[in-house]
Amino acid sequence: MPATLIDGRQIAQDVRAEVRADVDSWCAIGGARPGLATILVGDDPASSVYVAGKQKACAEVGIEGFSHELPADTPQADVERLITELARDDRISGILLQLPTPTHIHGPHLTTLIPAAKDVDGLTPVSAGLLAKGLPGLRPCTPAGVIELLRRYHVPFEGAEAVVVGRSDLVGKPVAALLLAENSTVTICHSRTRDLAGVCRRADILIAAVGRPRMVSGEWIKPGATVIDVGINRTDSGLVGDVEFGSAAAVAGLITPVPGGVGPMTIAMLLRNTVAAAALQAEAGR
Ligand code: NAP
Repeated sequence: MPATLIDGRQIAQDVRAEVRADVDSWCAIGGARPGLATILVGDDPASSVYVAGKQKACAEVGIEGFSHELPADTPQADVERLITELARDDRISGILLQLPTPTHIHGPHLTTLIPAAKDVDGLTPVSAGLLAKGLPGLRPCTPAGVIELLRRYHVPFEGAEAVVVGRSDLVGKPVAALLLAENSTVTICHSRTRDLAGVCRRADILIAAVGRPRMVSGEWIKPGATVIDVGINRTDSGLVGDVEFGSAAAVAGLITPVPGGVGPMTIAMLLRNTVAAAALQAEAGR
């Protein structure tokens, strides 16, 4: 029997509607309207599109957007100053520095200047440490989106064999930490993993976050497993994931399509993080 599709577009829409309701009730009880500051250095077309999408999504749910677009030759010190100002600004609940930055600017260093309570991308070393230690904090958006999809489809975590292919700071490591926090038994694979297919075949929950078009085929999947494809690969035949969808869907129990699976969740979780950040700051100011 073919797998059931996990509808990321629908879930992302549901999450956005919930965030909208949360913003309304937060403001109704006197909370300051949450605000998201985005910083874009340079004019990379893809980054401009991403930032514009984030700002538009904010407006739709009632989050105030503060867009900072800086020329490509902006000195690092100016960006540092801006982040420091935004960190002190009470109107700003979340700060997002769009990566990658131009080569003369050290993006990863700049992100360390974002206070953990405003780190709505959840990618600073402090946020990563909080996640690793199981302490409360803002979680990275795409990995949090993966967990949200699994929850909404009632996929059992407890004791499940979860295999994550990919160990990036952006996706692989945080999604593995989140699965561990849900009491799954987690294996992380990477480019040096021996018998990758064999390890994947053990998975009740298989997360592919590699960046290699259609690498995971149906033969790597345990019958009935849940398959989450984080990959976004532009090919001559269009956008494809890291999973070979046709053969995988014939074996899996649940599967995300690409596009329309994990992709839409990232911005939805960013919005949710921004509202959570506003609440964190209100608590800290009390
Ligand atoms: P990345 O930083 O390039 O990391 C890729 C990981 O895959 C690395 O850990 C690498 O292992 C591993 N890998 C590469 N080739 C492999 C192989 N042959 N066998 C096993 N593992 C292999 O990529 P990323 O940032 O995590 O992104 C992964 C994918 O997710 C990309 O397609 C990206 O576009 C997509 N993505 C989607 C979203 C979304 O919103 N849906 C968000 C972020 C990323 P090593 O560590 O050993 O090199």
